Amino acid sequence: MNLRVAFLVSLIRSFINSTSFAAKRLYGKVAIITGGSKRIEVGIAEVFTAEGAKVVILSRTEKDLKRVVDNISKQGGIISYVVRDITSLADMKNMVDFTIKQYGRVDILVHNAVGIYLPVPIIKMANEEWEEALKTNLTGAFYAVKSVLSTMEKQKYGRIIFTSSISGPRVGLQTKSHYAAAKSGMNGFMRSIAIELAKYNITVNAVEPGNIMTEGLKNNSIEVIKERARAIPIGRLDTVKETAYAHLFLASDEAAYTTGQSIIVDGGQTLPETHFSEF
Ligand code: NAP
Repeated sequence: MNLRVAFLVSLIRSFINSTSFAAKRLYGKVAIITGGSKRIEVGIAEVFTAEGAKVVILSRTEKDLKRVVDNISKQGGIISYVVRDITSLADMKNMVDFTIKQYGRVDILVHNAVGIYLPVPIIKMANEEWEEALKTNLTGAFYAVKSVLSTMEKQKYGRIIFTSSISGPRVGLQTKSHYAAAKSGMNGFMRSIAIELAKYNITVNAVEPGNIMTEGLKNNSIEVIKERARAIPIGRLDTVKETAYAHLFLASDEAAYTTGQSIIVDGGQTLPETHFSEF
């Protein structure tokens, strides 16, 4: 190699190392985010696209999905959406077909979609309310996983991440026992399939958020927000992105040896000493 060529090669190498894409943690990866049209999901989509992933988001409301895709695309992110229902296995399979057609593979599944339920004490809870909550929040997780498995198995690579909750797996949530039961079930499902899928180089983990400062919560009075924050040693609610960074770690190559685990992102709220402390 003559001197001029060697100089050119070293210049190109240093350019590649210094450009942001070389440092991006999800560069070249393709991620599906279920329920990607609202609060936490938008945070995850923003963090993942900023880290170089190509993302497909899914929910039932096209105008919300379109708004998120427009915003993230303007910032340079690569992102598409599909309007689908998590309670239909056919819809979930179709979401995977769309993703493969669009981006060629599926490396990461982040399952977030959650139904909204009015508080109801167990004494008054109807069978339909219970069944509906489990259908979206637990069976939906099963469908999402089933739909990506054959692709991930063929690739011998996959990262599956559930957005669970501290409610259920760590603490009770009065008047939302159906939600808490589904999230506890999700953690048991996560740990069990982590063992089964390890041989295909597919890891399965969860993130358990605590109280997040979402758009809905911002409409409450300062007193209500302060009251919630009083139970948290860090002294404030989680921002959407602080949860998303836990998802980012689990989706990244740094987490290759982490499976069957869940990361609690709650500012210390569920530590046993919390309720006896002055902070
Ligand atoms: P959210 O704002 O209520 O968003 C829920 C998403 O799921 C929406 O995009 C919704 O869109 C979609 N969805 C609901 N049912 C669906 C269905 N059948 N098919 C497809 N999509 C569906 O939720 P979030 O507060 O951001 O919470 C996200 C995740 O974090 C959830 O798993 C939740 O349990 C967990 N979490 C949240 C908090 C918190 O403080 N917010 C705390 C702990 C855990 P459409 O309704 O338009 O379909």
